[in-house]
Amino acid sequence: MSAQAPITASPASTGAIRHDWQQSELLALFELPFTELLHRAASVHRQHFDPAEVQVSTLLSVKTGGCPEDCAYCPQAQRYHTGVDAQKLMSTEAVLEKARQAKAAGASRFCMGAAWRSPKDRDIPKVAAMIREVKALGLETCATLGMLSAPQADALKSAGLDYYNHNLDTAPDFYGQIIHTREYQDRLDTLEHVRDAGMKTCCGGIVGLGESRAQRAGLLLALANLPAHPDSVPINRLVQVEGTPLHGTAELDPFEFVRTIAIARITMPHSMVRLSAGRESMSDELQALCFAAGANSIFYGEKLLTTGNPDVERDQALFARLGLRPMPVEPAMPAPGGTVHADIVEHNHACGRAA
Ligand code: SF4
Repeated sequence: MSAQAPITASPASTGAIRHDWQQSELLALFELPFTELLHRAASVHRQHFDPAEVQVSTLLSVKTGGCPEDCAYCPQAQRYHTGVDAQKLMSTEAVLEKARQAKAAGASRFCMGAAWRSPKDRDIPKVAAMIREVKALGLETCATLGMLSAPQADALKSAGLDYYNHNLDTAPDFYGQIIHTREYQDRLDTLEHVRDAGMKTCCGGIVGLGESRAQRAGLLLALANLPAHPDSVPINRLVQVEGTPLHGTAELDPFEFVRTIAIARITMPHSMVRLSAGRESMSDELQALCFAAGANSIFYGEKLLTTGNPDVERDQALFARLGLRPMPVEPAMPAPGGTVHADIVEHNHACGRAA
């Protein structure tokens, strides 16, 4: 029988901000009885957020497919035969039209994703123009473009970019089985450039890649022990796409997914924990369990980059059944020492971003 964390009071249930989490603590949380873990996560959630509010983001792929990277889960990698055709960067006007639609549907944040290893310097002015125009609509802006240099991060910040998404994807000791074309340190470096430029970070990962429970704990440990907790933490559940190396991977137990959400909430109490890729295949009941475990952000809309996402009507019906409401752009509750920010974007292609 595995060791269990004590069911009585625990530092892990206080909701304090920490950057010194230990792998053994996270594993002990994973080993808790399911209902006890949910209770602890829900208690932390209530200390920092209104549990009836869920932040809603919309993600648009502004440049799809043809990516030179080899992320084993991703249908946009050009080396896999997934039927995703490479497209050019969308025009600013086309992006704006989608942003207006997202705002009309209730989104407070609009994320623009491009399947690049990293943007070329000549791409930055085009993306900057999109950012300026989307922000002028009154939406928060987010982008996920791959690796960024420090000058590129500064340029995007100057254009008005609020958030940058770049995921860690998985635990450091599993990473080499998933991606070979960039290093874990490359991801940490991009996150540092984003923080140094003064933007907020959106950073999470994907589970169900075939990783062990210890490696799921390792992903959460890497996120929770970053120099600053990401403002948004997308937790993606692998969407298996035929033609990618991970197609056919054993499905993750849904309760294990909920446990992962709960531990993200406990270890990063002020962050928006987002249900991202893989939500389309989740039952309403599983999504409700995730909200009970502290998830408080979703992607909204028909497409999550190249994979499907529950349609707006289904989400609105689920919110009504659960008594949830979209989080306003202006925060309803101040967080200690700052502001609770509505959150970003996602994808189940996981460009250092979520799939
Ligand atoms: S996840 Fe992003 S970086 Fe990786 S192959 Fe897909 S588009 Fe490229």
